[in-house]
Amino acid sequence: MPELPEVETIARQLQGLVVGRTIRRFRSLWHRVTEPEPAALFARRLSGRRITGVRRRGKFVVLDLEGGEALIVSLRMTGQLLFHIETARAHPYRRAHIDFADGTSLEFADTRKFGRMAIVEAGALEGMTDRRRRVGEPLHRYLGVEPLSRRFTVRWLREFLKRRGRSAIKPLLLDQTGIAGVGNIYDIEALWRAKIHPLRLAGSLRDGEISRLREALRWVLQKGIRYGGASRRDYRDAQGAEGRMQQEFAVYDRAGEPCPRCGTEIVRTVVGGRGTFHCPRCQRAPRAPS
Ligand SMILES: [Zn+2]
Repeated sequence: MPELPEVETIARQLQGLVVGRTIRRFRSLWHRVTEPEPAALFARRLSGRRITGVRRRGKFVVLDLEGGEALIVSLRMTGQLLFHIETARAHPYRRAHIDFADGTSLEFADTRKFGRMAIVEAGALEGMTDRRRRVGEPLHRYLGVEPLSRRFTVRWLREFLKRRGRSAIKPLLLDQTGIAGVGNIYDIEALWRAKIHPLRLAGSLRDGEISRLREALRWVLQKGIRYGGASRRDYRDAQGAEGRMQQEFAVYDRAGEPCPRCGTEIVRTVVGGRGTFHCPRCQRAPRAPS
């Protein structure tokens, strides 16, 4: 599942590939891609619009459109955005397609069909509210702080962990309304690096652990970007290539292998319904509440 480094990789590539191009036609091949907006209306709104920039916000790819709106793409589990210079044979799981006026195109392929697109006011993406998201409200309006931005300070993190003190740290880092862009893989890798057990309560972290956690999150995310993201199953960048970060995991998907720091066997557990990996020696379990 693409997380911040994978989406950032795609956005940086698309920056060099689609900026300045004008959308001639949008076609949907799966009606839920643009849900709740009908695909025909979606197509009319995109037709003739020029792309002025590409960036990432949380796990969304954001294509800024002339006039202040943005086309946002949520890749979810298996979504891919593939740029083509010339007419290419359709991907077997093509769900939507953008033809540019100059003959190039951008294809949205998605095996599992969870990926979505929306046209939004670009300003709505600023978020950073830490408000609780109301049921049914779109996630893009509630995105939290970007962990690679200057706003992600130790002080901010300390306050955030205090406010959400009763949550276990592992699932809390996955909450996109708190910190935007972190998913299961980088969450697990960052907690190992910071020597924090996934079940520790957010409110129990000491100052030293909080600054280690901030540092670890930024370190693993930046490394992920440097390695072009992690490819497991479906992730491909905008030119169809795999990332290399999967070779760099310290604990993710390494149950039974030695911890790179102390040699103890990595264990797999399930936390909040997600497969989780940690070193039982480096990441001490919290004491059971008495
Ligand atoms: Zn260890």
